[in-house]
Amino acid sequence: MFQSLDFSHERDLTVDDVIRRVESYYPDADFDLMRRAYEMAEKAHSHQKRSSGEPYIIHPLNVAATLVKLRMDADSIMAGFLHDVVEDCDVTPEEIEKEVNPAVAQLVVGLTKISKINFKTKEEGQAENFRKMVVAMAKDIRVVIVKLADRMHNMRTLQYVSDAKQKKIAQETLDIYVPLASRLGINSVKSELEDLCLRFMHPDIYYRLAEKVAMKKSERDSYITETLEVLSENLLDHGLKSEIKGRPKHFYSIYKKMAARGVDFEQIHDILAFRVIVGNITQCYKALGIIHSAFTPIPGRFKDYIAIPKVNGYQSLHTMVIGPKAERIEIQIRTDEMDEVAETGVAAHWKYKEGIHSGKTKLDWVEQLLEFNQNVTNNSEFMDVVKNDLDVGGVFVFTPRGDVFELRHGATPLDFAFAVHTQVGTRCVGAKVNGKMVPLRYTLKSGDTVEVMTSKSQTPSKDWLNIVKSSRAKTKIKQYLLKIERDNHKEMGKDILEKAFRSYGTNTKSLQKTGELDKAYQNNGCSNIDEMFINVGSGKNSVEQILKAIPSLKKKVTETDDEEREKIAQYSQKLNQAARRKSHKDNAVIVDGLDDIVVRIARCCNPIPGDPIKGYITRGRGITVHTAICTRMDQAEMNRDVQVEWNPAFSFKHPVNVRVITHDKPGILSNLSKTINSTGVNIRSALAKSLPDRKGSFIFEVEVKDYSELLKTIASIESHEEVISVNRV
Ligand code: MN
Repeated sequence: MFQSLDFSHERDLTVDDVIRRVESYYPDADFDLMRRAYEMAEKAHSHQKRSSGEPYIIHPLNVAATLVKLRMDADSIMAGFLHDVVEDCDVTPEEIEKEVNPAVAQLVVGLTKISKINFKTKEEGQAENFRKMVVAMAKDIRVVIVKLADRMHNMRTLQYVSDAKQKKIAQETLDIYVPLASRLGINSVKSELEDLCLRFMHPDIYYRLAEKVAMKKSERDSYITETLEVLSENLLDHGLKSEIKGRPKHFYSIYKKMAARGVDFEQIHDILAFRVIVGNITQCYKALGIIHSAFTPIPGRFKDYIAIPKVNGYQSLHTMVIGPKAERIEIQIRTDEMDEVAETGVAAHWKYKEGIHSGKTKLDWVEQLLEFNQNVTNNSEFMDVVKNDLDVGGVFVFTPRGDVFELRHGATPLDFAFAVHTQVGTRCVGAKVNGKMVPLRYTLKSGDTVEVMTSKSQTPSKDWLNIVKSSRAKTKIKQYLLKIERDNHKEMGKDILEKAFRSYGTNTKSLQKTGELDKAYQNNGCSNIDEMFINVGSGKNSVEQILKAIPSLKKKVTETDDEEREKIAQYSQKLNQAARRKSHKDNAVIVDGLDDIVVRIARCCNPIPGDPIKGYITRGRGITVHTAICTRMDQAEMNRDVQVEWNPAFSFKHPVNVRVITHDKPGILSNLSKTINSTGVNIRSALAKSLPDRKGSFIFEVEVKDYSELLKTIASIESHEEVISVNRV
């Protein structure tokens, strides 16, 4: 029969049993040290008992045994012995470090942190739990594997605690530990935990299933034996040696099937699963061919996880056929190594890739973690849980190097950039999430790996305040904008005063030398010269005020005729306007005579810089900008137009859709994409459709700076001879 890993509670387990088992796969381990770790745990727990009445040490022993079954390394097994001593006894990490080693001490510290999670509300608790898990995993994934082994044994012995506690722990296991085991590819632990959850959450269903499965046991056993024989004979006839196992499916997967189809157990026929283990990948496909010719395959049920492995590393061929007795049976075909990966997931990966003896640095595990996180969005099972149950408090995202950042819900790549470093934030031009370009407005999800792209010429704009969600980013952007504004005002004030001084036959430099400029700022309540410039630039102080505070000019200024004074005033007003325009680089559109008004680009015609435009005042919604020729504005906008112009200082990219009709030719989409990219234009998305007459239609959403960049892009697309037409849509 199927010999999957057996995680049953072993009542009489001793440290000698554990050590003997470790010896079988890791003969060179330091068994003296391992024994010392065990003795430390035994001593610490000597006065404690489990809810079952057994001596407490039976729990750490069973946890260690589970880790042995997963073929974990010596440090993890020792951490299994000691995992509860810091939390439950008075042992300190330092003592573990001295008595055993620093690595085990670190693992126990990690485990203690995870178990100290305080559940205030379900949502908060789970988000916090997930955060700690992620942080623990980023440091050392073994912490999570030991934790899974701990939870496995607690679930195995859950019958000894109260009903309410059973339900609570089972629910938590299903919410957090099952998805984690799945994510790490440890299927043996995952299915075992699922069955145990079912047993304690829905005992009625569980025991009814157990009974039904048991009732037909002898009938089924003979059926399994018979099928095994037929299968292996068929394979042998074709010269293929194999090991075949068969067993009823896990209760939880039968339960899920019943729930999904809304049927009862009697109507679930495919409760048997067979596993064919062969020598290599070629033989896997050969075996599949043989099985499909001997039995009728059920259409649509074949899955090739060898060619396309699951995100967690799982590889196998799956098929479903009509078996010898006209029952549907599921068959999995895989190699030995794939089978081990399927059962023990990340643990097996560890053994094969790194070798059991190699020293494992933190970095290795961070890298591995990243590997697991890279395609996290594809793993719906994991992400669903994250989204539904865990992703409530905040989001937890990774840098490409594996550092974890906690951001508030709804955070964007821009928030992330500012969380990394202010300079990364202010220079952010774009971001990749899980390797794909995303808009800055993208909402980050837990598990995302975010890579920020920066440019030295980039500066924050007022628009960014609408994108970011975190107060840190908002503050930093405001600070930056304020500084820019002050810088502008300073330049402007300097300019205005210099001009004024000259018209009175002097200049800033000589007034500074005589010390008169110092008097000027002091008399106007400024703390330094720069502040005076800023005040003049912003209009807080008038030029006249400053001039009158300069002793050598005071008399002249008072005597100056009105015409001259008017000229200075006009000049400073002009400078002021120019400067204001410059500092308003955060709006794509400049609205005549209006500051700080909400401007919306109309969706219907989606104008980009270079298009002639018209603004319409919309009640409560600011100004909507349409192309000058657009006729689709709202009735409400109709009669209230306002003069608008494109802001030359604005440097945001604008999305535009371009439709391309081509003759069908292999590789055309990739060729077009390359051409567009080569003009320096980013493609946000591409949509392909085949048309009759061997033609293809593509819609590219490109990001362009302005109309001329769009024209350039269109021209480059038109240069392909397969292209029939290019249109902005
Ligand atoms: Mn424990």
